[in-house]
Amino acid sequence: MKPKGLLLVLSGPSGAGKGTICQGLLEKRQDLAYSVSCTTRTPRKGEVSGVNYIFTNRENFEDMIKNNGFLEYADVYGNYYGTPRSYVLEQLNAGKDVVLEIDTQGALQVKKNFPDGVFVFIVPPSLDELSKRIYKRGTDAEDVIKKRLRAATSELAYASKYDYIVINDEAEKATLKVSNIMDVEHLRVGRTFYIVDEICNRCKK
Ligand code: 5GP
Repeated sequence: MKPKGLLLVLSGPSGAGKGTICQGLLEKRQDLAYSVSCTTRTPRKGEVSGVNYIFTNRENFEDMIKNNGFLEYADVYGNYYGTPRSYVLEQLNAGKDVVLEIDTQGALQVKKNFPDGVFVFIVPPSLDELSKRIYKRGTDAEDVIKKRLRAATSELAYASKYDYIVINDEAEKATLKVSNIMDVEHLRVGRTFYIVDEICNRCKK
């Protein structure tokens, strides 16, 4: 029997390039589904509800928490962010890989329940570069940017809890590295042994 899909968790400080890498992976890998998170933060220019995030208010979000609707959730920079449980489980059970782009608090929660997940931490080549990227993006107000840059150093301290660290100096190369990690992870005995089983069963017939 074909195993469940692989759960890929991508984290890293704001501006590390997780979004670009995620996008690249989705273009490269047909069998990969993106989990759209819920958030209470205000949409940025160009963001669409249901595509970038499911934008909601605190009341709805807290109802979903009570109803066990999240695989994980966290307060990040003063807003709630959470991964809707049902979509992820449906996709994994259907044998599809799923990518979560979440912060370190959320990733640690996921790790408890999905020890088989693959946890990748994306780092910028330097803090200077990170700062340049956030300012260049131009999507956040000055005080928000300052908050994110302050948080970056404490987030980097969580890198050791992950399975892999990928330095994102060039998005295309970093995407390829994460894709290669997924290929290798798919070859783990636990995920591939069903093929050996099938071969043996065919021999017996
Ligand atoms: P942004 O506001 O820049 O889109 O995201 C802020 C941070 O929240 C990023 O580090 C992003 O990875 C994280 N984030 C996005 N969705 C989720 C989620 O569902 N759960 C958690 N824990 N963090 C999330």
